[in-house]
Amino acid sequence: MNSIILDPAVESRLASVANLIGDTPLLDLACKVNGISVRVLAKHEMANFTGSVKDRMALHIIRRAYADGRLKPGDTIAEATSGNTGISFAAIGRVLGHPVRIFMPDWMSRERALLVRSFGAEIIPVSKEEGGFLGSIEMADAFAAAAPNVFRPQQFSCPSNPAAHETSTGPELEAQLRKLNVVPQAFVAGVGTGGTVMGIGAHLRKAYSGITIHPLEPANSPTLTTGHKVGTHRIQGISDEFIPEIVKLDQLDSIVQVWDGDSILMAQRLASELGLAVGISSGANMLGALQLGEKLGEGAVVCTVFSDSNKKYLSTDLCSAEAVRDDYMTPHVELEGLAVHASAGI
Ligand code: PMP
Repeated sequence: MNSIILDPAVESRLASVANLIGDTPLLDLACKVNGISVRVLAKHEMANFTGSVKDRMALHIIRRAYADGRLKPGDTIAEATSGNTGISFAAIGRVLGHPVRIFMPDWMSRERALLVRSFGAEIIPVSKEEGGFLGSIEMADAFAAAAPNVFRPQQFSCPSNPAAHETSTGPELEAQLRKLNVVPQAFVAGVGTGGTVMGIGAHLRKAYSGITIHPLEPANSPTLTTGHKVGTHRIQGISDEFIPEIVKLDQLDSIVQVWDGDSILMAQRLASELGLAVGISSGANMLGALQLGEKLGEGAVVCTVFSDSNKKYLSTDLCSAEAVRDDYMTPHVELEGLAVHASAGI
């Protein structure tokens, strides 16, 4: 990857920050769901530079944009994001000396906005009345059209987003699985931009002929199934208000649905029983993996990602008592053991 960068100063800073991104450990969870043994293997993405899976995408988009001449030293990076992407661009932008402007829906957790600001980036809050997620994309586009030297990463449509996962997360996961002599039967990931599920999915399909690749959405707000915004949910980072351009449902297997309350309960249990302080979307991905595993049957092996930590959700329902409902899966799950496998160092 290093050879595509021309400017030596930029190259050296990118190479430095790249040492803090990717090569994440693999969490190996022995579980039972309704008495059926399921092995869930999850990439531990909070181990990245700013604590989320989105660092991979931000780094790759910036690298490619420098290589293509679309981004130059001193340019402003302007992006529309519900949170983790803003934190990643703000931090990596700071490493490279770029001003960063983040357009963010104003109902996202307070921690996210404070983190973006802590990296010296500017936040433009966008209210529901101003158009929410779609409004923030339009506002970022309008800013870029009106001001000179603005770079728009366009995470919802940029091919470098899934490519980041196809060239890093996917091969890392495969190398870790091969070391363990494990063949995965399915992969599932909640869809924000879709970069994770499309990119890792593309790599795993090449590596394992029988594998199925599943996008996940909140059952409370099934945008992928319906094609538009419907309902509300509390799994920050996934299911915005539209199906992103990156997502090609015809290249994916069935859509998995989980309830947001169930995801909160599972994320709470991962922390309190195994010491894995993950965010709500990780709880959702864990449930998605268990749902698929239960269908596949005894001894199933399902892979996923734990996208970030609980630190950005301390002021949210993740840290309050969540009511259990009859149709939730979490009460039927036993978390029997955790092993952690180091990065395969590829
Ligand atoms: N979980 C969290 C916490 C996220 O921030 C994101 C990114 N929006 C996702 C999951 C989904 O990742 P992707 O954008 O690659 O679909």
